[in-house]
Amino acid sequence: MSTLTTEPSSSATDAQTYFRCFAGCEGKHSIYDVIYTCPTCGSLLEVYHEREPLKARNPYQWQQLVDSRASTTKWPYGSGVWAMREWVVPSLRDENIVSMCEGNTNLFWAERLGRQLGVPDLWIKLCGNSHTGSFKDLGMTVLVSVVKQMMSMEGNPVKAVACASTGDTSAALAAYAAYAGIPAVIFLPAGKVSTAQLIQPVSNGAHVLALDTDFDGCMKIVQEVTNDQSIYLANSMNSLRIEGQKTVGIEIVKQFDWEVPDWIIIPVGNLGNISALHKGFKLMMDLGLINKMPRLVAAQAAKADPFYQSYKNGFKDKISVTAGETLANAIRIGDPVSYHKAVKAVQETDGVVEQATEAELAEAAAEADLTGMYCCPHTGVALAVLKKLVKSGQIKSNERAIVISTAHGLKFTDFKVRYHESKLDDIKSELANPPAYVSADANAVKDEIAKRLGL
Ligand SMILES: *Cc1c(COP(=O)(O)O)cnc(C)c1O
Ligand SMILES: [Zn+2]
Repeated sequence: MSTLTTEPSSSATDAQTYFRCFAGCEGKHSIYDVIYTCPTCGSLLEVYHEREPLKARNPYQWQQLVDSRASTTKWPYGSGVWAMREWVVPSLRDENIVSMCEGNTNLFWAERLGRQLGVPDLWIKLCGNSHTGSFKDLGMTVLVSVVKQMMSMEGNPVKAVACASTGDTSAALAAYAAYAGIPAVIFLPAGKVSTAQLIQPVSNGAHVLALDTDFDGCMKIVQEVTNDQSIYLANSMNSLRIEGQKTVGIEIVKQFDWEVPDWIIIPVGNLGNISALHKGFKLMMDLGLINKMPRLVAAQAAKADPFYQSYKNGFKDKISVTAGETLANAIRIGDPVSYHKAVKAVQETDGVVEQATEAELAEAAAEADLTGMYCCPHTGVALAVLKKLVKSGQIKSNERAIVISTAHGLKFTDFKVRYHESKLDDIKSELANPPAYVSADANAVKDEIAKRLGL
């Protein structure tokens, strides 16, 4: 077999990709088993890829292979996730891959915003430009594909998938489950997700249960419901999701012709995605595709900042809080499940954890919008944190910084409207730009334009 073939490696079996305990207990578990935590110590699992078989290709051959696939119509390799199939789940059969050509999101130079913020080499990875409008699609294509393969196996107990969600996970799960024809059950905190986020799983035919609690409360219930093996848990404590989510970091490097940026800033809640970024970079290091790690920045909303508090504590203890109300509802999480993975991600990349208040995130989003973006509140958190780190001198003006924009601004119209109407609680909308209501009279219109443009 040629090393540049686009076919999956025929030697790709369960033996080279399996679950193992993240805390280091002995034992391998098939990724087609219904198992989420280590049976010995209760820690999260991680999907491990044996490195030796992957070294059959040299770094250049891997780069060529991935470059030749991504963004093409060669199904499923055109997908940004499945272009890296051998690094994700090599043992999946073609007919079980549930893909809507996710990934391949644009990475653009934010020239004007970068200059304003004092970091001219600023780039935005626009992950919200995706099938369900957030980067959760990347993990869900992998999880639902594995479930499809499980359901094709004789004697497998799985009948449906379920998740608790702050909005975007459920949208992605509902869409991929509907594409595959698998029933999905969604647990949402009633009244705490945006209208757009609520209506997505409703439209995709999921069983949507709105519970009178917060995300952490929904998470407890879904864990009980999925104790029975017939319903498969799709939250990010299921480390299959991480395998897809890690491709975003690899994709950024690929888009820079395999060059590693200095900084990557990402808004964090349950801490799965920052763990995933780290895992992808670690894989590239081990395979020799890159020779340095980027510094990862975890950006939290001050209203829901347990990871920031733990960081300030030198990661001595895991801190949990009751998450307060924040505009950044997708990261409103008080008891992050991937805490230990994220600590490792920050420590091994010389990373930083910083937080942003409601006023700071709203202002940062509005400021970026005035340079042509359309930021969701979570991206606002990341940008506000970027501003702080540039101001404090931690991020230097000659360094390359990437902000991961995690969801599409159009999912958060209410946030935008209230900002520009100056109706957000306790926030002064310094950059509000409400429409002017002018009588339909040419002279009145001319006067208004002259006033605005200073003519
Ligand atoms: C899920 C999500 C995050 C945070 O990811 P975690 O893995 O929970 O840390 C950030 N932004 C958006 C829009 C999300 O949907
Ligand atoms: Zn263990």
